[in-house]
Amino acid sequence: VGKEIVVVKGQKIMDLSNITITDSLLGHYCRLVSDKIIPYQWNLLNDANATHCIENYRIAAGKQGESKGVVFQDSDLYKWIEAVAFCIENGSGDSFILMAEEAIDLIEQAQEEDGYLNTYFTLNAPQKKWTNLVEGHELYCAGHLIEAAVAYYKATRRTKLLTVARKNADLICRVFGNGEGQIPGYPGHQVIELALMKLYHVTNDDTYLNTARYFLYQRGKEPNYFLEEMKKRNGIPEFFHEFTDYDLRYSQTHTDILHQETAEGHAVRAMYMFSAMADVAMECRDEELLQACKRLWENVTTKKMYITGSVGSSGYLERFTTDYNLPNHSNYSETCASIGLMMFGQRMAKADRGAEYYDVVERALYNTVLAGVNLTGDRYFYVNPLEVVPDYCMDHTDLQHVKPNRQRWFSVACCPPNVARTLASLGQYLYEQDGTDLYIHLFISSTLEAEIAGRKFKVTMDSSIVQQGTVQLKITEEQATDIAQLANVTIKIRVPEYARGINVEQDGEKKEAVINKGYLCFDINFSGTHTIFIDFNVRPRWVAANDKVRADEGKMALMNGPLVYCLEQIDNGENLAGIYVRTTTQIRMLSCEKAPCGELPIYEYQATRLANEGVKGQQLYGEPDFVEREVWVKAVPYCLWNNRGQGEMLVWQKVKL
Ligand SMILES: [Zn+2]
Repeated sequence: VGKEIVVVKGQKIMDLSNITITDSLLGHYCRLVSDKIIPYQWNLLNDANATHCIENYRIAAGKQGESKGVVFQDSDLYKWIEAVAFCIENGSGDSFILMAEEAIDLIEQAQEEDGYLNTYFTLNAPQKKWTNLVEGHELYCAGHLIEAAVAYYKATRRTKLLTVARKNADLICRVFGNGEGQIPGYPGHQVIELALMKLYHVTNDDTYLNTARYFLYQRGKEPNYFLEEMKKRNGIPEFFHEFTDYDLRYSQTHTDILHQETAEGHAVRAMYMFSAMADVAMECRDEELLQACKRLWENVTTKKMYITGSVGSSGYLERFTTDYNLPNHSNYSETCASIGLMMFGQRMAKADRGAEYYDVVERALYNTVLAGVNLTGDRYFYVNPLEVVPDYCMDHTDLQHVKPNRQRWFSVACCPPNVARTLASLGQYLYEQDGTDLYIHLFISSTLEAEIAGRKFKVTMDSSIVQQGTVQLKITEEQATDIAQLANVTIKIRVPEYARGINVEQDGEKKEAVINKGYLCFDINFSGTHTIFIDFNVRPRWVAANDKVRADEGKMALMNGPLVYCLEQIDNGENLAGIYVRTTTQIRMLSCEKAPCGELPIYEYQATRLANEGVKGQQLYGEPDFVEREVWVKAVPYCLWNNRGQGEMLVWQKVKL
């Protein structure tokens, strides 16, 4: 791949077994994964009428028959196993081990002698293996297999799935590359790159790191592998008719990764690739690559991201478009893309340090990712609009991808198991240990047991960040005896972008805030119990967009902490577009307990409704004769929308001067 590799030992990832999430909001969603989501999805993956997922493995294990469903369907089961693994690790998943083992046995039996594993190609097109990387998703499925295997091994120390994944990865490492007899290609849908990095970390085998780097650096090089491959099919797609007249930006192959100045193409592919780039940049101390990551981060988060932390504004091809083009009713904003943004932010925070990365992670999590699943865990959003009029969401129009209700499943079912594995492993986003530093990135009530520099700590976080703007931490070290010999440990607590002032108390006494790279720093240099109390002075606030975002011109949105609020028809009647709000309107908090989940504040404020009385009866057009009426409107957290039936929804509200 060119440059010499300097391998740095990876940083410690927190064990989920040491973290318990007790938060009233996130705790609900985390419990939902083991209580509802995993059994619900297991039934669907096994239901041959609903999906063909496990059925395909069964047929492939028997070595004859036909695979059905979409070409990348194998990946759904891998993500489900990964979610199970995280549940086992966090202590909520033991009852799923038998199901997982049943699935793993089938996967093992479906694997071919040389390590190849893909039910579609094994059964339907064995002679076409690795011939259609643009569309075939073989490397994508392999990536999810590897991620599942690493997580399952970490949680259970059982090696069967890891052995299957290594055999598959070893085959891929032999088949792909620039050497003689190797295929100089790369995946049409990225994810294997970051999966190989995980496999490398768990095995210490450089081969996986090298192939991950190869896949990244080979991408977009001339002659373009995808163009050459498509020529062999005379440009005619095999799986996806929309791939006719293929735009190389779609899969980020328009140029090599160091020259990708802006985020382009399919948003999930881009996010997974950027995450892998950050992984490799960190591992190999590749400064040029890290700079490329920073440029892309900047482009995404300052020009192409919704207020809800979603990305990919085009319904057509699920892709990024130009800067500031952020329509609110026709956007794609896939749940998986926001999960990808969380992954990218987590890695950038590690590589570059700075609170702004977790501001974005938090925004994506609290809004789009949580909106991706309902409060009972059995309905899902794939597309996450910021404005919905249900009747307008018609098939065979440019809004056919927008669903006004969460769905029970999808023929392309990437999002539901992705939400499951993300929530099941949420602990990895809260806390991070780096040498003698303990980072606290998110304010989610929880407990952590950590061993830092030989010292054992118990951390209890009580967060009221969305209710009061406050966080309390109790840090207990029980066993220390010789204080003089204690290594210094620093607790670093993120200062969120919405803090309007910081008041700190340590052990009941006011303390000067010491902030480094956006993190409040506390040296823990004596044992016993410390209490840290922080008031970030969070208040509900109106947010407006840059004038370049035409869709939000003359509008504002209500936020409180990381939560974006929206209006729903059930509270405010129909025609939410007729509501105008003054920036000076008094925002009243209704009782938190009335919220359907998590004791989240619900707000109420005065606004005006504009109605045109110049248009009479059944007339479509008429004279402008507007009348204004004072109304009270009620705003609820966006993540909870559509949990009380179908209706209109609106985030950006018109401003009344
Ligand atoms: Zn998805």
